[in-house]
Amino acid sequence: MMRNCDILLCDLDAFFASVELLDNPSLQGKPVLVGGSPEGRGVVSTCSYEARKYGIRSAMPMKKALSLCPEAVVLKGRMERYKELSQKVRLIFEIFTPDIEVVSIDEAYLAVKKQRGLDTAKNIHMAVRKELGLPISVGVSANKLLAKIACEKAKPNNVGLLWPEEIKAKLWPLPVRVLPGIGPVTGNKLSNLKIATVSDLANHPKDNLMRILGSHGEILYGYAHGLDNRAFETEQEAKSISEETTFPEDIHSREIIHDILFELATGVGYRLRSTGNTARTITLKLRFNDFRTITRSSTLPDSIHSDIDIYKTAKGLFDRHCSKPPWRLVGVQTSGFEQGSQISFFSTGPEQEKDNILTATRDKLREKYGSEVLFQGRRLKKNK
Ligand SMILES: [Mg+2]
Repeated sequence: MMRNCDILLCDLDAFFASVELLDNPSLQGKPVLVGGSPEGRGVVSTCSYEARKYGIRSAMPMKKALSLCPEAVVLKGRMERYKELSQKVRLIFEIFTPDIEVVSIDEAYLAVKKQRGLDTAKNIHMAVRKELGLPISVGVSANKLLAKIACEKAKPNNVGLLWPEEIKAKLWPLPVRVLPGIGPVTGNKLSNLKIATVSDLANHPKDNLMRILGSHGEILYGYAHGLDNRAFETEQEAKSISEETTFPEDIHSREIIHDILFELATGVGYRLRSTGNTARTITLKLRFNDFRTITRSSTLPDSIHSDIDIYKTAKGLFDRHCSKPPWRLVGVQTSGFEQGSQISFFSTGPEQEKDNILTATRDKLREKYGSEVLFQGRRLKKNK
């Protein structure tokens, strides 16, 4: 259905920080950090481009960020305002196409008619700038992979193109880490193979990649050639939303599984809320180290949509059915959708505020660094 489409990735630049600059022009030109407090273990959720000049990045501990740039302005974030603007951006997207796949609060893929991609991208860029005063970057190509890379290269506040026929000239010279799905573990394996650029990867024997990286090697090899089989799927069309993680090593601790279930619940919950639906059925998937795999479901009297409700249900299923460690994989799925209202995603209330900020921060971290990194960070912390 989407074969004859151009794909756009629209990504608001330094979104939370840009909103703060928009609402308070006296912050213009200053390094602005949005995130947790420097006391405790707060991290930078978003930093303005000015702050990036000091080497500050998302997910960096706030304490470290302030040591790099003591004069930075630290703001704790106003999630309701960000959601309000995110919704307005969404309305602008809807002017141009009904085919929207939401990635996160500041990012979405759009499918438009073939050969309409560049014009649409320019129009969206201009509309978001003029209507809302926010900087946005848009990447245009034939699939999600190339649109995403085009967008990264265009940032900030610009439109970028990366067509399949330009892969050798424009994609191959880039460092291999521009491709998605390369966390620290895979990155190390690739550098052991002397693969530094996308070109190195594209010209490496595929068999050898598969021997070392398994099926992931085949996917990465495809990416290096600009191939991306991921479907364009609007969440509205989906019958279920799920996420799962396979562990690089067996897990023996129930507590760690609980943490991972929470991560998965936040990912699934975010996507569920973005559809405006609620879910009646939560399913846990669990694989033991002998590769026996079970799925166990719970259908609830009332449908749910919050991270914490999804987590509690999944955790309950795990505690009842986990039998003996070690475990190899866990997954969380929501299904049995009911049309909720947008209240779920855009609701207000002080007690929700904290959970919302946490959720959005996690959503951003997941998007930026992939779940591999988050899980590793957690495991490191646990092992101390
Ligand atoms: Mg962004």
